[in-house]
Amino acid sequence: AKMDGRGAFRFFEERMNDKLVSRKRMESDLRQAILRDELKLHYQPQVDLNTNEIKGVEALIRWYHQDRGLIGPDEFIGLAEETGLIVSIGEWVIREACRQATEWPDLSFAVNVSPVQFRNGNLVEIVRSALQEEGANPARLELEITEGVLLAQTDQSIDTLLALQAMGVRIAMDDFGTGYSSLSYLRRFPFDKIKIDKSFITGLGTCSDADSIIEAIIGLGASMGMTSNAEGVETADQVDLLRKHGCNEVQGLFFSLPLPSESITELMSDWEWNKKA
Ligand code: C2E
Ligand code: CA
Ligand code: CA
Ligand code: CA
Repeated sequence: AKMDGRGAFRFFEERMNDKLVSRKRMESDLRQAILRDELKLHYQPQVDLNTNEIKGVEALIRWYHQDRGLIGPDEFIGLAEETGLIVSIGEWVIREACRQATEWPDLSFAVNVSPVQFRNGNLVEIVRSALQEEGANPARLELEITEGVLLAQTDQSIDTLLALQAMGVRIAMDDFGTGYSSLSYLRRFPFDKIKIDKSFITGLGTCSDADSIIEAIIGLGASMGMTSNAEGVETADQVDLLRKHGCNEVQGLFFSLPLPSESITELMSDWEWNKKA
């Protein structure tokens, strides 16, 4: 059948309408997700390249939707930010991570914080009370932020970050190197850690530029008193090269996917696994 202009437009309209409906549906589902207990944190081990031991975990959120099954954060964090739902979801994440981390007293635990949480929520108080109520040492908590946090309301954001550091919480710069001005942010704020984005790790060993860039980032961070983490590490060669370049810690599929908390507890008692590196 031939489609005239009008038919094509109607088709387009219907598609747009479907999109709006599914977005609305998703938004109301997301509103219910906490109450229905559908959100869950998975944890990805972070391995210390000096000791070859798991030194910490990063909490990564998952949504077990009652009809749609497992939904990854890339599919709903954006919506949560646009609707403001990220404020309550983010508060749940911090509390849940503090609670579960008490099972692994020797590990640090990292939590991703959305820029929207900085603008709307009372982050310092939320973190303080979560740590206190769950009895977790602030020095074990690391908050991962992206450039977006410093992009808007810089002074206020910096005050918030400084207040968190004063509490003993560490601040990591996530996805380093992917934004426009990663370098200038290093000057503006004393991060404790730089997380080198996985797009750089992919080229390691196959592209000499990637090697020099990573070496430079690690060296720059070290000279400013920041530790380095490489994410998205998938091969033994990448581990070797990162160790050679002086990287402090790595995480990625080579060691482990993000796992449910029960599996982390098992892993921690598995001595053999710890020797894999
Ligand atoms: P991110 O913070 O950069 O997290 C790293 C992502 O890389 C995770 O995807 C992780 O599962 C994935 N990954 C880990 N190892 C490898 C590997 O070896 N190769 C590859 N290709 N990928 C690997 P995930 O869990 O889907 O999370 C995606 C993004 O969603 C995160 O990126 C973070 O920005 C956001 N996110 C996750 N959890 C939260 C949360 O609780 N709050 C907020 N605000 N954002 C979150
Ligand atoms: Ca992260
Ligand atoms: Ca990242
Ligand atoms: Ca990312």
